[in-house]
Amino acid sequence: MKAIRIHETGSADVLRYEEVADPIAKPGEIVMRISATGVNFVDTYYRSGLYKTALPASMGGEAAGSVEAIGEGVSGFTIGDRIGYAMAPLGSYAEKIALPADRVVHIPENVSFEIAAASMLKGWTARYLLRKTFPVEPGHNIVIHAAAGGVGQIAVQWARHLGANIIAVVGNDEKANIATTLGAHHTIISTREDIAKRVKELTNGEGADVVFDSVGKDTYEATLNSLKPLGMFVSFGNASGPLPPINAQILSAKGSLFFTRPGLLAYIRTPQMLRETADDLFDVIGRGIVKIAQPTIYKLENAAQAHRDLEGRKTTGSLVLTP
Ligand code: NDP
Repeated sequence: MKAIRIHETGSADVLRYEEVADPIAKPGEIVMRISATGVNFVDTYYRSGLYKTALPASMGGEAAGSVEAIGEGVSGFTIGDRIGYAMAPLGSYAEKIALPADRVVHIPENVSFEIAAASMLKGWTARYLLRKTFPVEPGHNIVIHAAAGGVGQIAVQWARHLGANIIAVVGNDEKANIATTLGAHHTIISTREDIAKRVKELTNGEGADVVFDSVGKDTYEATLNSLKPLGMFVSFGNASGPLPPINAQILSAKGSLFFTRPGLLAYIRTPQMLRETADDLFDVIGRGIVKIAQPTIYKLENAAQAHRDLEGRKTTGSLVLTP
């Protein structure tokens, strides 16, 4: 089968489209024939070397497709079932992948493979951020960075449903319009406005209850200065580069802030947590609370272009590869 792998870390140019052996279903595993692969910003961290993985490495951590083979000891799945997975293992930039059966979820009939691949990893992330890391309640002032991106679009809609007052931070006017259409109450254009000053203005001088910051290095200072006393800094990504080391004293100086650096894996670590998370996302999609925009589709062999567009801040919503 064909797959995208890397033999060295670096720019998008290191992504290679090559022939690899077909996976087989070992005991406890399922082989998925992939119909759609989700492209996530985290894929670029593995490719660049920011996150470590052994080389040569298979790329990608999210896919939707159908069951092609079932290993010994697996129950609850039959050949042809519509399935998906997100986060681990790596290797979804391919035509097939072998997966531990307890990391696989069923995809409902009303959700296409492309929409599933566009929404699982990002939607599960939005879900834990808003419902577990900082349970959002009506009236909370919340700031969502990269609000027109993959995670951002889902988070804005879900937070609106939960009753939050949403301040969306985006890179340009087109993205601001998207965030507003999805339910953001206010927008801040990060490339030309002072984020913290605007957040303070929009919250009557008080500051935000929580900031969901996936941008990292470039927005770290602004996020610290946007929070109200006892507010929570949720640092969940590094699209602009990693944060500086955190000086605990600064959290006290800025008003006894809380700081967390969450990752999806911890929030879906048991089969039950995974199932609850997946059910919750498919439920809000099914009820029209969260609408997943048609993703931008790239052919698998053009994965490098998808990475360039994502890292170049050229995209909105989700990107999907098809074999
Ligand atoms: P996005 O679609 O959100 O793309 C990233 C966006 O970040 C860009 O579109 C851009 O939006 C913004 N951005 C700001 N500065 C930069 C920069 N210097 N370079 C590139 N982008 C920049 O990606 P995803 O939805 O896939 O992921 C969003 C974030 O969430 C990522 O940081 C990812 O690592 C993180 N994440 C974390 C998870 C976790 O569990 N911890 C799980 C899933 C995702 P704009 O132009 O509007 O600023």
